[in-house]
Amino acid sequence: MRGKRAVVLGGAGFVGSHLCERLLDDGAESVIAVDNLITGNEQNVRTLKPRAGFQYVKQDIIDGLEVDGPVDYVLNLASPASPIDYANLPLETLRVGSIGTENALKLAEKKKAVFLMASTSEVYGDPLVHPQKEDYWGNVNPIGPRSVYDEAKRYSEAISAAYERSRGVEVRIVRIFNTYGPRMRLNDGRVVPAFVGQALKGEDFSVFGDGSQTRSFCYVKDLVDGLVRLVLSDVRGPVNIGNPREMTIKQFAEAVRAASGGGREIVYHPLPKDDPKQRQPDITRARTLLGWEPKVLLEDGLRETIAYFREVAGRPSGT
Ligand code: NAD
Repeated sequence: MRGKRAVVLGGAGFVGSHLCERLLDDGAESVIAVDNLITGNEQNVRTLKPRAGFQYVKQDIIDGLEVDGPVDYVLNLASPASPIDYANLPLETLRVGSIGTENALKLAEKKKAVFLMASTSEVYGDPLVHPQKEDYWGNVNPIGPRSVYDEAKRYSEAISAAYERSRGVEVRIVRIFNTYGPRMRLNDGRVVPAFVGQALKGEDFSVFGDGSQTRSFCYVKDLVDGLVRLVLSDVRGPVNIGNPREMTIKQFAEAVRAASGGGREIVYHPLPKDDPKQRQPDITRARTLLGWEPKVLLEDGLRETIAYFREVAGRPSGT
């Protein structure tokens, strides 16, 4: 990354801010974080602002993208990403995945930059094969409540592949599986902040369904390492990045209870519509082509995440 110039779309979000930090740590000459803060927070880049080469630009990528000077990498992470966010922002989610992604691809084409599309395991929908390999085409309900996100990401992949084939843009597609870590929002509806928040407040854990549905959780530092390896590689076609250590939601609630020393009972609620029952990445491609695999143990990642949420809880409100 030394001497390279990157534009990170969605750079003030959870993953985007960690990616900006890693690029700067790796010696990037310039890192421009573009974000309209629809689900992000400027606080996430607070510690990056004083660093040489870092710039934050508040902009909606749906309105177009202009960047002065050369760019080596356009990294597109802009999109509402949690189920609560995309349920509240259905049209914004579809538009950023479609118009926003095309604007990002146009920028990459103009600058002859490598383009990274942050896609998602949700393109597999409620998968009928398990674990999911990249050649599985998915099982998505096109009009269900989660479809705005799933289909936006499927379209993002399709248009990225089309720009690669027809316009010669160098495209990398990553399908990200559940990721957690500091800078998630406590109330974003995802299971990690939900459980951690409940543990810190000493509340019961809310589990949807009977808790036997499985998930696998990747720590954000591991994910970012996978993203960097992918953009520096010449790997074509989608690559799953996630942690294959699968556990039930109930086991996960117990891990949070142990790591936080708090939280009481597990309380069961009805399962939301189209909630996937099983989710586990097959990371053979990432292992063999990128030499990547997750390294951070759940217990260690949870400890750092809980410490972050404790610190945020102690900050004056609004910061
Ligand atoms: P996030 O909401 O924290 O970050 C997304 C960022 O994009 C936010 O800062 C938001 O303000 C910004 N954004 C949204 N629409 C925009 C627009 N029109 N113009 C400019 N900025 C815009 O979510 P995250 O968890 O950091 O996710 C980052 C990316 O990774 C997303 O594309 C998401 O789909 C993908 N992803 C994340 C996970 C995960 O577990 N965190 C899993 C799969 C995929």
